[in-house]
Amino acid sequence: MMKTIGLLGGMSWESTVTYYRVINEVIKEKLAGFHSAKVLLYSVDFAEIEKCQASEMWDEAAEILASAAKGLERGGADFLIICTNTMHKVADKIQEAITIPIIHIAEATADELKKHGIKKTALLGTKYTMKQAFYKDKIKSNGIEVIVPNERDMELINNVIYNELCLGIISEKSKKELLRVIKELEDAGAQGVILGCTEIGLLISQKDTSLPVFDTTRIHAKRAAIQSLD
Ligand code: GLU
Repeated sequence: MMKTIGLLGGMSWESTVTYYRVINEVIKEKLAGFHSAKVLLYSVDFAEIEKCQASEMWDEAAEILASAAKGLERGGADFLIICTNTMHKVADKIQEAITIPIIHIAEATADELKKHGIKKTALLGTKYTMKQAFYKDKIKSNGIEVIVPNERDMELINNVIYNELCLGIISEKSKKELLRVIKELEDAGAQGVILGCTEIGLLISQKDTSLPVFDTTRIHAKRAAIQSLD
């Protein structure tokens, strides 16, 4: 029996679209024919979440997401994925509110890095993800060193995420900038790069760089699809 995947999405909806597509592509690949994934989506209003982030009101954001997660559980989801790296900052609080398990995006990514023998990785994401410990610690606890861009480039990437990608704006100029940052981190010894924001894959993919790319959206979505078949 296929399990029902609960998607806590809308952060932003631009990347939730990718989740939905990848999950169904994996199910199609595994089961063929007319098979498609059983999915429940709770898509929040990202403006409310972004406001909480910008004013560091993490408890309030956690409450909004925990309430949405409870809705997914009541609706029949067998497990849940939170479709953003940044909001994993409050993953424990969301987990406390429900009884179904959450597949953690950084744990799924760390597993993939280990599979590829990566010992030192670059991490791109929002300023919260790159600067704070909640995300990096999950990767580091797997024995993998994490390096992030310098302060100026962190600001640049954060602006690209919030001022462009989350609004559906794809800019060639920003792509070049991100590729420059990736190159610099490669020169600093990174053996791979985590696209640690679910929208970065809308701008950068493996074909743009020789450095192995770990796109958290695809990794997370794929893991959820496979788990739904377990
Ligand atoms: N989706 C992004 C992430 O993966 C950023 C948007 C958000 O703050 O949730 O971190």
